Amino acid sequence: MKTILYKVGRIKLILIITLTALIMAVGLNFLFQSFQEVNFSYTSLIRSALIPIIIAPVISWYLVGLFLQVIELEQTMKQWAMFDQLTGLLNRRAFLHRAEQEYKRAKRHKEEFAILVLDLDHFKMINDQYGHKAGDLILKDFGKLVMSNIRQSEICGRIGGEEFGFILPKTSLEQGCLFAEKLLDAIQNRMVSFENKNIQYTASIGITISYPENDFKINNLLHNADQALYQAKSAGRNCFQVAQPTTEFSQSAPCN
Ligand code: GH3
Ligand code: MG
Ligand code: MG
Repeated sequence: MKTILYKVGRIKLILIITLTALIMAVGLNFLFQSFQEVNFSYTSLIRSALIPIIIAPVISWYLVGLFLQVIELEQTMKQWAMFDQLTGLLNRRAFLHRAEQEYKRAKRHKEEFAILVLDLDHFKMINDQYGHKAGDLILKDFGKLVMSNIRQSEICGRIGGEEFGFILPKTSLEQGCLFAEKLLDAIQNRMVSFENKNIQYTASIGITISYPENDFKINNLLHNADQALYQAKSAGRNCFQVAQPTTEFSQSAPCN
């Protein structure tokens, strides 16, 4: 019914319902009169046509309207269940689900992919200095920035307060690092206006790569990326660090 409604459109669907009701009413009247041994009455036939012409559009307009409201509500509920309201990115549950799907897909195709965990720097300080509303604006801004910087195949979700996860399919370590570098650069060039003040913010990133020959689960990979993030924080923030799936840090990235 939902697909029919979207394909045909509300007006056309109401016309179809009205026409069907009209044909049925006239047809039944015709049959009824044919079986009765009385003179055929055209007045009765016209009267039977008038009823569906008047009533069917009104009732079907109302019912189709109700149906549309139910569809809209269903879509809103789905959005709420999947997306984080503030940033517009996937919420933790949806992100983990998509990450798991990508993990299985990559395993099947023997592909590597990158996992990044990003955390906004000194966010508590930003909240304390400018207020919680300003903090929310920054999170919103970050959501916008991510959406305009990632491809459709790439996955990003808010996995904690000011912590975000990224899954970059078919991405090598080199490509993952380049992505992190560009993202950090874009973040530090952002300016969020709040009460006549321009606020800038930075982030730190931990990266790990899932190799097809390794058997690390998504949780382990996220844990490794998180460990690398911790290293990036220790190394001075506004930088990224890379961890191998073994949790040994194989490469130091440009931290100050
Ligand atoms: P670090 O650089 O080490 O990550 O320091 P930090 O201050 O960012 O980290 P910490 O974990 O100490 O603080 C995180 C802060 O993020 C505290 C919390 O109030 C804030 N936060 C979490 N979620 C939200 C949110 O939705 N809105 C706002 N405004 N703040 C949030
Ligand atoms: Mg933080
Ligand atoms: Mg944090």
